[in-house]
Parts: sequence; C-alpha cells; structure tokens
Amino acid sequence: MITHAEFSGWPGDADVAVALTFDVDGEAPWLGEGAEYSRRLTVLSQGRFGPERGLGRVLDLLAAHGVPGTFYVPGHTADHHPEAIEAIAAGGHEFGHHGYLHLGSEGLDQGGQRAELVDGLTAFERHGIRPVGYRSPGWELMPETLAMLAELGFSYDSSLMADDRPYWEVSGASPLLELPGHWSLCDWPYFGYTPYHGGLLADPAAVERIWLEEYESARAEHRLVTYTMHPEAIGRGYLIRMLDRVITGMLERGRPWFATHGQIAALALTPSSAASATRAGG
Ligand SMILES: [Zn+2]
Repeated sequence: MITHAEFSGWPGDADVAVALTFDVDGEAPWLGEGAEYSRRLTVLSQGRFGPERGLGRVLDLLAAHGVPGTFYVPGHTADHHPEAIEAIAAGGHEFGHHGYLHLGSEGLDQGGQRAELVDGLTAFERHGIRPVGYRSPGWELMPETLAMLAELGFSYDSSLMADDRPYWEVSGASPLLELPGHWSLCDWPYFGYTPYHGGLLADPAAVERIWLEEYESARAEHRLVTYTMHPEAIGRGYLIRMLDRVITGMLERGRPWFATHGQIAALALTPSSAASATRAGG
C-alpha cells in the first residue's frame, strides 16, 4: 500500500503545484550508450544543442514568466558545459542529480551504480553545488539505487510512477519522497528523434492540449503535476513557443504555484509528523 505524502497546503491561495523540470543530458547519453557514438558528430551535436542553445531559450522563458525550474544534470554535462551550470545557477533554479554518464542503473552492478552517484556528486561539488534530489537516467532504477540515495542523504527522487501524487519510498534506511513524473508529461516521447531510435515528431498542438488537460485534473485534485523536458527537444524554436502557451494557459485558468522539486519536498510532512498532525487534528 502506498504511503502518500501529506502537505499542509500550497503557499498563498494556489489550487495546484506545478513543477517544470528539465533534464540537461547533453552528449552524456550517447557517450554512455557506447564507444561507437563518440565519433558520430551529428548525434553528439544533437545532444550538445541542449546546453549550447536550447537551455538559453528555456531560461529566458522561465525568467519572462518569473517561474523557477528544476534542472537534472548529469555530471558529464556539468564537467563539459560549465557555462550551462552558471546560467542555471544565475537564474536561481534548482539542480538535481542525473547520474554522471547518464547510465541507467538497470545495466550496472552495485559498484557501477554507486560510481554514477558519487561521480555525479563530485562533478557538482566542483561547482559548489550539493543536490538533494535525484532523477534516474532513462527513468529506470533498481531497489539498491533507492537505498543508496537514502544513504547518501538525498531527500527526494523523481523517477517512479506508482501514483500521480507524491508518496514515500521506504526501500532504504530512511524514507525517500517520490515526486512522480510520467512519459505522457515528458517531451521526449513526443518530440525526441534520432536516426538510431526513431521518434514521433508529434504535433505540438496535441501535446499542448494533453498537458493542459493534466493540469486541469491536477487543479481539481489540488495536487502536484510534474512536467519533464529536455532542452535539446523543448528548446527547439517551435516547442519553446508551445511551452510559452502552456504556461500562459495555466496562469489564465487557475492559481498555480510554480515551484522547484526542492521547494515541494521541503513542504512535505514526514510520515511520522503527518501521523502526529492527524492525531493532533483529530
Ligand atoms: Zn536524461
């Protein structure tokens, strides 16, 4: 049975919490997928477009609306695109851990999983950053990864999908808050395309409708909704225009609290304090 995370409400009179999250993968997924990609300049340049070009558009759009984002960054991106880290930090946004070479933990033994976590933390340390949240590369992770996250002091994860409300994972020594996403609320299945994996190159008008419909559902339930995007996809000119319309549509329809995952995690009542608050409140 899932233990839902309790919140004492969203700040102000917000009727919904919205997390705009961005995975700044860069070249890491390709370099992690196989040595054969290290000389394939076009596919690498597709990844490079994220930190080099798409990210700037994302940051400008967030600044124009005055809303924060959560940026999940592989250590490899942090090491090879320091100016991207500086730009994200200058915007006052949150950083989350996204592996080092974007290696999915399903293909790694325990030592490999730990190395991805530790190397990612070390890369962030070189920028004076200590993330408290994690999103697994490719949205897959193993039970031992969850346990390591708790052991390394992370407070939340954003990789699992057992509910569309925040909930507690108890695989590790201490409970870890899960802030779930979903493929339908991610840009990649709609807009990601490479000659090696194919892709839909979907109509953004359809995705705009889907994302705003999910927003309406979240608003009716006063819950959090997390959108996951990649600067190399959402940072294309026509898709930034879609994201602009989505944010504008949210502001017109409801009273959203745009927040980082860290801000949301900080508001979650821990399972024990939620239980005592319930007792105190009868
Ligand atoms: Zn990723």
